[in-house]
Order: sequence, then structure tokens, then C-alpha cells
Amino acid sequence: GKGDVHGEVVVLGSGPGGYTAAFRAADLGKKVVLIEKDSNLGGVCLNVGCIPSKALLHAAKVITEAEEMGEHGISFAKPKTDIDKLRDWKDSVVKQLTGGLSGLAKGRKVQVVNGYGRFSGPNMIEVQNDEGLTKVSFDQCIIAAGSEPVTLPFIPHDDDRVIDSTGALELDGIPKRLLVLGGGIIGLEMACVYDALGSRVTVVELMDQLIPGADKDIVKPLHKRIEGRYEAIKLKTKVTAVEAQKKGLKVTFEDDKGESSTDTFDKVLVAVGRRPNGKLVDAEKAGVAVDDRGFIAVDGQQRTGQSHIFAIGDVVGQPMLAHKAVHEGKVAAEVAAGHKRHFDAKVIPSVAYTDPEVAWVGLTETQAKERGIKVGKGVFPWAASGRSLSLGRSEGVTKVIFDEEDDRVIGAGIVGPNAGDLVAEVALAIEMGADAVDLGHTIHPHPTLSETVNFAAEMFEGTITDLM
Ligand code: FAD
Repeated sequence: GKGDVHGEVVVLGSGPGGYTAAFRAADLGKKVVLIEKDSNLGGVCLNVGCIPSKALLHAAKVITEAEEMGEHGISFAKPKTDIDKLRDWKDSVVKQLTGGLSGLAKGRKVQVVNGYGRFSGPNMIEVQNDEGLTKVSFDQCIIAAGSEPVTLPFIPHDDDRVIDSTGALELDGIPKRLLVLGGGIIGLEMACVYDALGSRVTVVELMDQLIPGADKDIVKPLHKRIEGRYEAIKLKTKVTAVEAQKKGLKVTFEDDKGESSTDTFDKVLVAVGRRPNGKLVDAEKAGVAVDDRGFIAVDGQQRTGQSHIFAIGDVVGQPMLAHKAVHEGKVAAEVAAGHKRHFDAKVIPSVAYTDPEVAWVGLTETQAKERGIKVGKGVFPWAASGRSLSLGRSEGVTKVIFDEEDDRVIGAGIVGPNAGDLVAEVALAIEMGADAVDLGHTIHPHPTLSETVNFAAEMFEGTITDLM
């Protein structure tokens, strides 16, 4: 019909996975259509994820560093927060990036169709928006529909004092007492922001440690630091009820001994994980299987059970991270354009951009031991790093994990300021099959935090035995 659209490659969803796939496919000569329900391109990452959270975390870091510099002879007045201005700045960062994406799409002649897309057959998506229905037919399709925050049945999500990460990033006031439900990356990043802005923060986590995916020894310095700043950190505790009352949200906790307690908070941030959007696109009408949780299974070329339909990013599985989505997007687009490519990355780094940052890549020590690997490690405490001390910080740790059989690097856990940048070197080392000598004999610039990776390797080799 009139206004109907055809794409050789149609991409559903414009997050980091989707826009990367769309741009790569267009660069490889395909006629590409990109479907997006939101008015901005960029998905969760650019609009309500990675980028706005990092802008606010930067503000948080400036505040806490200014506070702490008081102990070293430079005192500032208590910072005055103009929350509207802070929000405007954060929004402007997002806008610059999402606007940039529109330009990049135009430059490549990627046609953007705005609206909510659902499959209506093996070669058709119907896109609904306020103006009506557009039929988008395709030769090949890449599903990049992403994920949404998990909601809990016993929480009154319709109360505006109950927020998810998107609500937290809106900066709609600074609550006096904030409960962060979930001690994972997203919850702890937001906790860090609101603590710096003046909220008294409580974090509650079901497991026996914060950031359960990382080794406990690497999370400990973060735990210790925020324990001193926050009102409380409750581990091995679950929230069983949240009741909206006039004076606040009454929360019931239950610890691992079955003991209940209650407390009242001004806001509750629910950050207990993300749910893939696979069930919301009528994928079965295209013959694509979606599992009970909403994930879409793919092979090593990102193909679903239908060989002309690919899926990438959060909707295909863990870890739900932007750089994984981007990598998968490139693989899918290149395969769709007839190139030989498959997902062959060995490792995907994870980073919590808290203060201090917690980063890990490859096998954790716990995982390596579970797999029966003869685990060797080099652990370098940053208290012996001149650069760390000159930042006024000493709690960091760099742990590099090796396979004792051949001394190859198999993983790393790093905690400290900028740990997220440091872990990239270890990711490269693992991809290249580097061993302890490679890391230990590479000259690192002095004085940098990157030296801690070099020192950790030397500690494993035994060439450094004493610290300072
Ligand atoms: P998404 O970014 O989820 O994009 C999917 C897009 O598809 C959306 O724009 C959506 O509107 C659209 N869509 C979905 N269904 C339809 C439909 N039926 N029709 C039309 N459009 C549709 N990751 C990191 O690596 N680093 C970080 O620092 C980081 N920080 C984060 C902070 C927060 C607060 C959150 C919530 C997440 C963070 N993440 C981070 C995770 C990261 O945002 C995701 O892994 C990433 O966005 C996934 O990309 P994607 O392309 O799979 O999907």
C-alpha cells in the first residue's frame, strides 16, 4: 500500500546494538530501515542508561573529591546543587549523542520509521504510530528490541515515589532517605549519585555480597567505602512488601534467619534486573522462538531459528551490556551482507562505574576454581601505587588471574578509580593469548594506574616480592 516500506535489512530497535547493525549494513551496501518506537534514537544506553548515568556519576565524583580534599588542605564550601541545571546538562549530553545518531543515519540513507513494530509474518513488520500503520517488508531482519527494568508484584510501581533506573535518572528531587533495592551495578551506580547529592542511602541485596557477579575480594573495597558513607547496606536480606503510606513507603525486610523488620523511606529505587523485550514483538508470527523469560536464542552468527532473522543485544541474553550489543550488531550486519563473520570474542568486560569502580573480565577466581583450573594469581594492592596515593586513594586492588599450566592470562578483577579503563588491557591480553611474561615485560607508563596490571603480573611471576 501507499507509504509501505521495504528494506533489504530491517533493524527493529535503535539501541547500541540496533544502530550499530543498521550503520554497518548500510556501509556494506544494503538498503536499511531502522524501526524505533521512541522519538530519539540510541535506545536505553544513550537515553536512560550508560550515558546519562555517567554524566551524573561525574557530578558525584566532583562533589566527593571536593569534600575529601578538605583532609589534604584544600577546602571548598558545601556544594550547592541546582538540580534543574544538573538535569539540563545531563539531558544536553544525551541530546548531543542522540542527535548525532540521526545525522549518521541520514548520511548513510538509513530510513528511520518511528513507531511500535510487531512481526505479522516471516518477512513483514507492522509499525504502529499515532498516524497509523506502516508495513515494513524485509529480506533480512535484525531484532534489537533490548530490555526493560523488572517490576515486582509486591511493589506499588504506580506510586511516583517508587522509581526504576529511568526514574532515578530523571532527577525528580533528592529524597531524604532512599532505599535501593538490588545491590547490582545499576543500583549501586544510582546509589553513588544520590549519596553525593545528599540522600541518606540504604542498599538491600538478597545475596551475600554486592555485585554478585564479581569476586568478593574485588568488591570489598567498594563495600567498605560505601558502608562508611551510606546509612546501611543490608546483605542476605529480601524485601517482602512495600506499602505506600502518606508519610512515605513502608518497607518490610526479611533477613536470612527469617526475621522481619520495617522501615519507611521517601523513595524506593527498584534495580533488581532487566527483562528482555522478546515477548513484545510477536516474534512467533515470523517463526522465531522466544523463551519463557523473553530471550531469543541465536547461533554463533546471531541467527535465530529463521536463518534470515538475526537477534542481538539485551534481547539475546546476558551480559546485558552495550559493548556486547555493539559487537553482536556488527556480526549480524556483516553476516546479513554476506560476509564471513561469527561471534568469536573470548571475553566481555563488565564495569560498575561506582566510586571506586569495580571491573572484571574473563574468568573470575571463583569461576576458574569451579572449572577445576589450576588457578594462579597476582594481586597488587594500590596502597603501593604512587599514582593511586597521589589521587588521595589507597583502597584499590588489581588481581590478574592466570592458568598455572601455561601462565596464560584468563581473567582479572580490578577495583579502584578508573578500573573500567584498566580492565581493557587485560581483555586484549586474553584475546591475544598473552601470558604473565607478556604483561610483566611490557613497559607501562609511570606513574599511572595501568602499572598495577604490570605489577600484578610481576607478582605472579615472583619478580616483585616486596611492596615499597
Ligand atoms: P536497547 O538499548 O534496550 O534498545 C532497544 C531499542 O529498541 C529501544 O530504543 C526501544 O525503544 C526499541 N524497541 C524495543 N521494542 C520495540 C518495538 N517493538 N518497536 C520499536 N522499537 C522498539 N551498559 C554498558 O555497557 N555500560 C554502562 O555503563 C551501562 N549503564 C547502564 C545504566 C543503566 C541505568 C541501564 C538501565 C543500563 C545500562 N547499561 C550499560 C546497559 C545498556 O544500556 C544495554 O545493555 C544496552 O542499551 C542494550 O542495547 P540493545 O541495543 O540491546 O537495546
